[in-house]
Amino acid sequence: MPELPEVETVRRELEPWLTGRTILKAERVDAPEGSKYSGLELASGQTIKTVNRRGKFLLLPLSHGDELIIHLGMTGVISPKDPGKHVRVKLSLSEGENPFLFFQDTRRFGRFLLVKAGNYSDLPTLFSMGPEPLSDDFNPGQFKAALQKSAMPIKPYLLSQKPVSGVGNIYADEALWASKVHPLTPAKKVAKRQIPLLVQMIKDVLAASIEAQGTTLNDYRTVNGEVGAYINELKAYGHKEEPCPRCGTAISKIVVAGRGTHFCPKCQKQSS
Ligand SMILES: [Zn+2]
Repeated sequence: MPELPEVETVRRELEPWLTGRTILKAERVDAPEGSKYSGLELASGQTIKTVNRRGKFLLLPLSHGDELIIHLGMTGVISPKDPGKHVRVKLSLSEGENPFLFFQDTRRFGRFLLVKAGNYSDLPTLFSMGPEPLSDDFNPGQFKAALQKSAMPIKPYLLSQKPVSGVGNIYADEALWASKVHPLTPAKKVAKRQIPLLVQMIKDVLAASIEAQGTTLNDYRTVNGEVGAYINELKAYGHKEEPCPRCGTAISKIVVAGRGTHFCPKCQKQSS
């Protein structure tokens, strides 16, 4: 599932391709009009001003005051080449290199819709999202205040996007392992001394993964069709029963709030 590093990798490829291009036609292909795909007909004739990202959402402000919002969901891939199947949206662009954009989404968890710029009231995750993890707005003071608001275990609280945006299943496990925080620790019980370290590890893990163009487990591809290389750097995620790189204890896998969760039972002690 694409997380922040994967979406940022895609954003960096889309920006030079799409900025300044006019959308001649936006069509839904094998995708029903509805909350996931709405308003696309209004994109015709508008020029893409830039390609931004907020958490795992791609935000494309348009010339007439609208904004295209793209979420890759679990299997979304954006490509200039027609993938032939599972295409949900096709954009025809003004003259230039790669005049078509295809949004392919096999499992249909993705979204591709148009809203008035900045109007995210129908997108609750985007609407109530915490600060960008690589910005200075995400810092130990802010994070400590956010953690104190919840008794939810730290892992699903990170996934809620509320204390900080863009952290998904893989990077939550990696950052918790790196900072020695047990994934079931209630958010408000994370030790004070661990908070600055957890902030730093979230930033470090995400930044290193962006450098590697993200992590490819299954479907994720960059716009150029490449796979993300960060999979080779994962310490805990996907390493069930393999030795912890720090202490040699076998990595455990449990299910937390429905998500597979990897941790070292020796390094990541649950504080009581
Ligand atoms: Zn360990």
